[in-house]
Amino acid sequence: MTDKSDNALLSLIGKRVPVLDRGFVELQDLMPHPATGVSGDLAIVSAARTSFLGEGKGDEKDRKLLNYLMRNKHTSPFEMVEFKFRLKAPLVTWWQLVRHRMASLNMQSGRYVEFEDDEYYVPAVWRKQSQSNKQASDGVIDPSDDEVLTKELVAHYERCYKLYQDALSKGVAKEMARLFLPGFAVYYTGVWKIDAHNLMRTMQLRIANEAQEEIRVYASAMYEHFFKPALPWTAEAFEKYVLSKPEA
Ligand SMILES: Cc1cc2nc3c(=O)[nH]c(=O)nc-3n(C[C@H](O)[C@H](O)[C@H](O)COP(=O)(O)OP(=O)(O)OC[C@H]3O[C@@H](n4cnc5c(N)ncnc54)[C@H](O)[C@@H]3O)c2cc1C
Repeated sequence: MTDKSDNALLSLIGKRVPVLDRGFVELQDLMPHPATGVSGDLAIVSAARTSFLGEGKGDEKDRKLLNYLMRNKHTSPFEMVEFKFRLKAPLVTWWQLVRHRMASLNMQSGRYVEFEDDEYYVPAVWRKQSQSNKQASDGVIDPSDDEVLTKELVAHYERCYKLYQDALSKGVAKEMARLFLPGFAVYYTGVWKIDAHNLMRTMQLRIANEAQEEIRVYASAMYEHFFKPALPWTAEAFEKYVLSKPEA
């Protein structure tokens, strides 16, 4: 497990995965960087043993230790691996993502940059309100209503954007003109850095069925396309001891 500076891991850096209609998840950086030749799994094991970075005792013992750490919630070694993502997501997703406070975040500034006219989220389907859970959705609405709702939404966005442009043309500051934009639907880009322990916690909560679809797709993209290939042993233990168990 010491030599993991293979092309597959290196190619994760800069990889971009499309999410929703205009969003994406992109990995900007990873610590340990694959070019160092130390895999993330081994960095976790090394931290637990407080041995030299990259020093292992062989795959079997290293893997056993990693499973032990996960099973016994010995979480701090997992903080030694960090993921830095660039995310483009509608505000409805960011609204929930920022609740995960053990992360570092830098967002695009709507005071500085003008919003583009097509930077809004248009859902592919309209989900129905769940009857059993007040904050969740369940199934989709009648397809005959789908097209009408989407048309109304797009018309609403276009009207909002025109009002935004009108305000700008009257000399209103960008920081105020944006009050005309449809808040939850607007796409924002941000850089989000988080360690593997806190990312697992975020994914556990946000991949769950109860989570809103607009954050589930981001959490799933981070997990499938980046976390799993970067930390295969950790992902295996995470699925076995955390994801498959209902929250205590
Ligand atoms: C299905 C669902 C519904 C939700 N609904 C709502 C809602 O209606 N309204 C709402 O506001 N939030 C809601 N949340 C967000 C939720 O309350 C948490 O803020 C979010 O899940 C982040 O969890 P966390 O605090 O464990 O993570 P983080 O914020 O990343 O924190 C990680 C850990 O660090 C510690 N920590 C962090 N900050 C502090 C602090 N200030 N003081 C003490 N310890 C701290 C805690 O141990 C915490 O578990 C919802 C989340 C989910 C998954």
